[in-house]
Parts: sequence; structure tokens; C-alpha cells
Amino acid sequence: MTAVLIDGKAFAERVRARVAGHVTRLVEEQGITPGLAVVLVGEDPASQVYVRNKGRQTREVGMASFEHRLPVDAPEAELLALVERLNADPSVHGILVQLPLPPQMNAELVINAIDPAKDVDGFHISNVGRLGTGQKSMVPCTPLGCLMMLRDHLGSLAGLEAVVIGRSNIVGKPMAMLLLGDSCTVTVAHSRTRDLAQVVRRADIVVAAVGRAEMVPGDWIRPGATVIDVGINRVEGEGGKTRLVGDVHFESAAERAGAITPVPGGVGPMTIACLLANTVTACCRANGLAEAE
Ligand code: NDP
Repeated sequence: MTAVLIDGKAFAERVRARVAGHVTRLVEEQGITPGLAVVLVGEDPASQVYVRNKGRQTREVGMASFEHRLPVDAPEAELLALVERLNADPSVHGILVQLPLPPQMNAELVINAIDPAKDVDGFHISNVGRLGTGQKSMVPCTPLGCLMMLRDHLGSLAGLEAVVIGRSNIVGKPMAMLLLGDSCTVTVAHSRTRDLAQVVRRADIVVAAVGRAEMVPGDWIRPGATVIDVGINRVEGEGGKTRLVGDVHFESAAERAGAITPVPGGVGPMTIACLLANTVTACCRANGLAEAE
């Protein structure tokens, strides 16, 4: 392997330490404890793991964690009423409704019912519009984590060719907006892109957010490029055990890339760290205080 490994786990620890320091100052100097409310509807096993991790990490940095669970068959009105209560609760600075929601609920309606100032996932239509127009907003956690790692590794991104593979509302599109904001020349590729290999070969920065195990082979990577692998795919490993792989074929890509994130231990840990950082930001804004950098 010739690429530098971008260690998301270590980076996320540094972000959490910074957040914890900011929380301590808020508590000691202002008497304010930032609070994050996480709402889980139903019992999806993956969502339960995410929610548990979020709650634990929230408490570890000294913030208040509020967990709300609704049964899988709860009516949409019950969730909307809960969101309204959380919007009005001054001890709650961030609200996250864990997706996906069961079919009787309209996710867009629910997300847009969250107070945009408390929308720490950055999915509310007004935050999406603000990000797209370069106004101060809540930025979705996964692309924010990717951007932080890119800036840390590359310094200025201005003028670089960036190719984002995937155009979802939670990763691909906001990632493209953030890279554009940092003056990259951005291409967004998707399932209808013609000759994806040639498109990716142009890139100084590749962000893969597809959800297809190891679909980007090493020979698509321009020598020296920086590769951020957002994908989390469970595949059958040796002895019938499952293992996690990204959207990029790590071994071959690491032979050509200048730097690359591993899976696991790359983008994943940064996502929750950014959620905590967003909650502190929301708390500072709500109280008219200076934001952490
Ligand atoms: P979505 O399924 O919402 O979007 C996938 C995107 O990939 C779509 O835009 C789709 O194109 C595109 N795509 C599918 N097949 C191809 C193909 N053959 N060639 C090019 N593009 C293709 O996924 P998400 O954005 O939600 O997530 C992507 C991955 O990132 C998943 O593995 C997910 O688990 C992971 N993830 C990881 C997070 C983390 O914290 N590390 C957080 C969030 C997601 P089209 O629009 O044309 O269908």
C-alpha cells in the first residue's frame, strides 16, 4: 500500500475532545448543558445500534441525551406531536429523527416539522436551501465529516477536480454542495452516468457514496488522488462470517491513491462526531453565543 491512511477514528476522537471542551465551558461559564433528542420509531436492528451509539457518545462528551421510542405502528400524528414538544423544549438543542420511518409516516413531512435551528441532521428543506445558497445552515453530518477530513489532509481544496459518486439527499448532494463551496470543480455521478470509469479517472478527490460493495476498482483512481469511501456494505467473509467493506476496492485503490479512508474506521466514526459538533453549534446559536470553530 502506498496511500496515506486517513484515520477517521482518530480524527473523530479529536473532534469529540474539542466538543467535550466546548460543552464544559458552556456548562461552567454559562450554566447551559447542550441537549440532543433522538427519536426512534420501531425496532429496526441497525437503527437501534445507531441510536444506542449516539446516546452513549452524547453523554460521554457531557451533553444531555434524550431518547424517545415509538412503536412501529404509531400514527404519524403521534410523531408530529412529539416533534412539536421537542421544538418547544428549551433543554433540547438538537433533534434527530432516525430514518428510515415506517410506511405510514411521511419522512419529508416529519423532517420539515423539526425546527430548522434544531435540525442537527441538516435535512430540513430550509437547511438544504441555505447550504445550496451558501448561507449559514446545519450541515448534514456524513458529508461534513468527509469535508473535514479532506481539508485536514489537503488544506485548500480550491480548483481540485472532485467526483462524487451518488446523488442521495443525505450524502451525495450535500457533499457536492460542500465541495463546490470550497471551490472544487464538482461532478456528481449516479446510476445513469455514462462511462463512470473515465469520469472517476479525472478526479483529484473521489467520494464514493453508492452502497455497492467494492464497485470502484483501483484502476479507476488517478494516481495520487484522495479517496473518501462512504459506503458501508456487509459481505460474506471467510468461514461464513460477515465483514464490512466500502464502495471502493480498498487494496487496489490504496496502491494508486495518495490517501484513502478505510472501512470501517473512516467516514463512519466522523458522522456521529459531527452530529455532536452540530448540537453544540445549535446550542450556541440558540443562546447567542460564539460558535466553536
Ligand atoms: P442511496 O441508496 O440513497 O444512494 C445511492 C446512490 O448511488 C444513488 O444516487 C444511485 O444512483 C447511486 N448508484 C447506484 N448504483 C450505481 C452505479 N452502479 N453507479 C453509479 N452510481 C450508482 O444511498 P446513501 O447515499 O444513503 O448511502 C450510500 C452508502 O453510504 C451506503 O453504503 C450507506 O450505507 C453509506 N452511508 C454511510 C454513512 C456513514 O456514516 N459512513 C452514512 C450514510 C450512508 P441513482 O440516484 O441514479 O439511483
